[in-house]
Amino acid sequence: MIFLWIITSLILISLGLIFVAVLKHSTNTSSTENEDDLAEWICQTCGFHVQLGNECIYCGEKKTVVKKHNWAN
Ligand SMILES: [Zn+2]
Repeated sequence: MIFLWIITSLILISLGLIFVAVLKHSTNTSSTENEDDLAEWICQTCGFHVQLGNECIYCGEKKTVVKKHNWAN
């Protein structure tokens, strides 16, 4: 019975590690991708406030990549 208990605990520990790894991975990737797609932006050409998408619905201008404050560099 001790052998079974060890196997069970090992499985639980590995499952916990996998769960934490997946959680960290998903939060790291989604934080950067969603920010680009869902962030509101103001069209450089007409000044229209676009709330959804990467293309201005008013004049059709594509979203210009404006880097936010990048303190890392
Ligand atoms: Zn525009």
